[in-house]
Amino acid sequence: MRPASQKTGAKSELVTDHNGVLNDLLAGTWQNPVDGAQVRIPIGNIVTQNTLEGRESELIVALHRGKSVVVVSDKITHDILGARIFKALAREGGGLGAVSEYIWDNPRSSEEGVADLRAQTAHADVVIAVGSGTINDSVKYATFLDGKEFSVFPTSPQTAYTTGTASISFGGVKKSLIVHFPKGVFIDLAILAASPPRLIRSAFADVICRTTAQVDWLMSHKLFQTPYSPLPYALLAIDEADLIDDAERLLSGDPDSFGRLVRVCSLMGLGTGFVGTTHSGSMAEHSMSHYIDMFCGEAHPGTLHGEQVGVTTLTCSRLQNMILGADTPPTLGPTRIDEKAMIERYGETVAGDLILQVRKKAIDVREADRINALWAADWKGFVTPLRKVLLPFATLWDAMTKIGAPRTGAELGLAKPFYRDVILHASDVRSRFTMLDIASHAGRLADFAEEECD
Ligand SMILES: [Zn+2]
Repeated sequence: MRPASQKTGAKSELVTDHNGVLNDLLAGTWQNPVDGAQVRIPIGNIVTQNTLEGRESELIVALHRGKSVVVVSDKITHDILGARIFKALAREGGGLGAVSEYIWDNPRSSEEGVADLRAQTAHADVVIAVGSGTINDSVKYATFLDGKEFSVFPTSPQTAYTTGTASISFGGVKKSLIVHFPKGVFIDLAILAASPPRLIRSAFADVICRTTAQVDWLMSHKLFQTPYSPLPYALLAIDEADLIDDAERLLSGDPDSFGRLVRVCSLMGLGTGFVGTTHSGSMAEHSMSHYIDMFCGEAHPGTLHGEQVGVTTLTCSRLQNMILGADTPPTLGPTRIDEKAMIERYGETVAGDLILQVRKKAIDVREADRINALWAADWKGFVTPLRKVLLPFATLWDAMTKIGAPRTGAELGLAKPFYRDVILHASDVRSRFTMLDIASHAGRLADFAEEECD
């Protein structure tokens, strides 16, 4: 297996052999290349195979022996996989307690939906989730509140199965909650490979943001000494170059390419678990996607999270390459928070929350001068480690083209003035300091947004 650096320009120094990395992590024998310490993950088992047909009960019994289980699916995932899992577990003699199933008619990853799910699963010790986003998040949160174990059989590729976090709505506002990890993640590749191509493209686009998130997170660490860990990227570097090179084979059903995507999704999810925050895979590109979901309103084109993140990753990559690729540093001014304009843009209630986010990362004249002096003294020294983890824009653009994913705001179906606002104002939604903040403080964001929307 080639190291990531040889094919696409990613120059991570943390490349290790990918073979069996998940098994090593499960066994607690994987060595963190950063400090040599052995790393163990808080998940009992992760199994990824071409098919799991015939192994369902063996896998569940090994983790949940003697316990009563309820298999939760919705109408669609019941037909795809839930019915098969339930039948297999119900046939199991002796290894499990009572086995039941609940086909959730109206799944909602909201406070109310989770309350409904808890009532429907109250009779069982363990919940087996069969599905993707909504089912996985709801079961994870419901079992966390009830102090129960759960395992998951995914039905589409995503990073969320191996995380200890759940995305749940409270009064219409989505919150990412730190909850608990599944006991088992059982991935039947034949089921996932049959997902609609749009879901596969979306999963690809959502892991490709590694490069922009790492640049932003590392830059924030270098400027403000905010926490940073290279560990999540050590795991992703193993497969990233091949994933990008083989992008077009993903949709052709090639088992190696597809298996690699699923492994990268699992490893990306685990990465957030190691560092206890989502920063490693969620910086400016995710703020922009959140901005689209929060403020597009009726005009929202119904695009998926991954599709949006693919486009915003390209925008962020172009901006990062432009600023970090320059021979001379930008010159930063202090933060100027135009509270009146924010209230006009977002309304009083939402603006109050966002003003607090922006205040948390605001820099005054002294701080801006400190950064300008740091850069003036050694710009090359500052950008070199960032350039090492930055992929060329063309590499990402070509991969997104090959896989047929949307690449621009217009291709997502967003109006030009709205996507320009996304670029100009997405840094308002979170206190994470990113290249959008640098461009804004350097007075270069408005021109960039104009060019990017042309
Ligand atoms: Zn994402």
